[in-house]
Amino acid sequence: MQYKKFKDGISLSRLGMGAMRLPVKSSDAEIDYEKAKAIIDAGMKSGINYYDTAYVYHGGKSEEFLGEALKAYPRDSFYVADKYNLQAQPDFERQFSEQLRRLQMDHIDFYLLHGIQDNFAEEILNNGCIEYFDKLKQEGKIRYLGFSFHGSPQMLERIIQAYPWDFAQMQLNYYDWYCGNAKTFYEMLELAGIPVMVMEPVHGGMLANLRQEAADILQRLDSSFSQASWAMRWVMDHPQVQVVLSGMSDPAQLADNVRTFDQAKPLTDCEYAAIREAAQLQYAAVAVACTGCRYCCPNCPMGLDIPLLLRAYNEAKIGGAWRLTSVLALLEEKRPASCIECGACTKHCPQSFDIPGYMNEMKHMMNR
Ligand code: SF4
Ligand code: SF4
Repeated sequence: MQYKKFKDGISLSRLGMGAMRLPVKSSDAEIDYEKAKAIIDAGMKSGINYYDTAYVYHGGKSEEFLGEALKAYPRDSFYVADKYNLQAQPDFERQFSEQLRRLQMDHIDFYLLHGIQDNFAEEILNNGCIEYFDKLKQEGKIRYLGFSFHGSPQMLERIIQAYPWDFAQMQLNYYDWYCGNAKTFYEMLELAGIPVMVMEPVHGGMLANLRQEAADILQRLDSSFSQASWAMRWVMDHPQVQVVLSGMSDPAQLADNVRTFDQAKPLTDCEYAAIREAAQLQYAAVAVACTGCRYCCPNCPMGLDIPLLLRAYNEAKIGGAWRLTSVLALLEEKRPASCIECGACTKHCPQSFDIPGYMNEMKHMMNR
């Protein structure tokens, strides 16, 4: 495992484990404890020392699981990152004490304001939580304070100026760099000297399942590396990046990541050019670049599985409307036609996708 120095002499593994896509049983809130614990154990064994959770992951069960799973290890052999979620529980004192209880810990190493978006940024900057968390930092209950972000460049600048942050977490991958605005955000954090923890390095799995033309380009470079491995190596090459988070849900994925982070060498100019070409080919094929983060889902009054429906939408845009047959396998009330166009999902989507518009289009595609 490769490590990188952070502050105060601590070293963080360059690969971090995200606890938002753990193996589950019948529902997202029902973590398959045995399988998930085996992944944490394998992570510890391979040298991963950064574990990232949040108040809302797995319907609130991720923190409990992680605390229980890590209890087997000395507290100074790993670092835990956790997050204050304004929408789930505005009372930050209450949320933080509940998190310590769920984790069975007396402090949290890396603490973040979770997923700041423009529509609630001012509220979170002004509700007193930063002052409170700063006090907890002085008391040793939080070691490092940061934020994760899904807003505009203007709002990122406002947040950077609001506090001397220890770190930030952002969505960074080659697809969003070449085809989106990740480069702008990264360069702003770099200029401010804020270390970056990376989320979505494979864009919610998309860069591990490239369309054939894009996959062929990477395959020709070196067929012994997986598609995910190219995406991880690209992210690691950026000097401001401290930890690359991966939400590992099976042992094979963990093994592939560990191999990448054991062996990774800097990319050559030729490899950069090939990755850029792969990104552009992929971009040409994907209609909605949904990351599968599921921030929209709890806000849908109709209980639609929006990322699943958008995956079907993307497939239909590439392969034809017949691909929407997978949607027909859903209960009638879970299909796009049930969307009441309330717009609650778009408000919570970090990419501000016009989800009701896509649902409406799908409804018509299915009626043709
Ligand atoms: S617009 Fe449709 S998909 Fe979005 S939250 Fe409302 S009902 Fe759900
Ligand atoms: S539609 Fe937006 S919020 Fe919903 S899963 Fe996709 S990226 Fe996340």
